[in-house]
Amino acid sequence: MKILVIEDERPLADTLRRAISSDGHWVDVAHDGHAGLELALTGGYDVIVLDLMLPGINGLDVCRRLRGLDEPALVLMLTAKDGEYEEADGLDAGADDYLTKPFSLVVLLARLRALGRRAGRERPPTLQVGDLTLDVVARLCKRGEQTVELTARELDVLGCLMGADGGAVAKQHILDEVWDSPADVDPNIVEVYISSLRKKLDAPFGRHTIRTVRGVGYRLAPDAP
Ligand code: CA
Repeated sequence: MKILVIEDERPLADTLRRAISSDGHWVDVAHDGHAGLELALTGGYDVIVLDLMLPGINGLDVCRRLRGLDEPALVLMLTAKDGEYEEADGLDAGADDYLTKPFSLVVLLARLRALGRRAGRERPPTLQVGDLTLDVVARLCKRGEQTVELTARELDVLGCLMGADGGAVAKQHILDEVWDSPADVDPNIVEVYISSLRKKLDAPFGRHTIRTVRGVGYRLAPDAP
């Protein structure tokens, strides 16, 4: 998922960035209400972790502004026990969930995953395109009845393609979804994985399902055997 953290306590913001990103999400961080709202309005985030007490615009107002969007991000609000506001205020303002500080990172990550499921942004357990199936829980890929051995990273890249339901997937999207720190990776690494997926999933079966979409990325087509 693409997640925005709006938190003015920098050590906490840094901790959140590291924890959320090592859980496999893309994370941006803002340290005040204005910067946070600006990112939130333009960034296309799935979930926003929003501190209640912020300099600039407070969390309640950021939350209210976000409710006006066509596809608003889900909001996980962070509140302080002795804060001026109660959880109810956050929920009234449109927050989808809240956590009271101090909270456990394990609980925070679990709540984020739950919000992702609610938003339908997590993949269903088995993906299918033509006769290609991917059980994302068992991490098992099959072409027809035949199991195809893939590495962990190959499975992730394939999951990205299959999750698009035949639509084109941008190379950058694959980088963001699959790599923990996409900014540190040569974008051409995606081509390497696409090439090895073709060798394992297409070539041995005489198929041509992993198509290049020029100027965009790739598309998985359900061609007949
Ligand atoms: Ca604060």
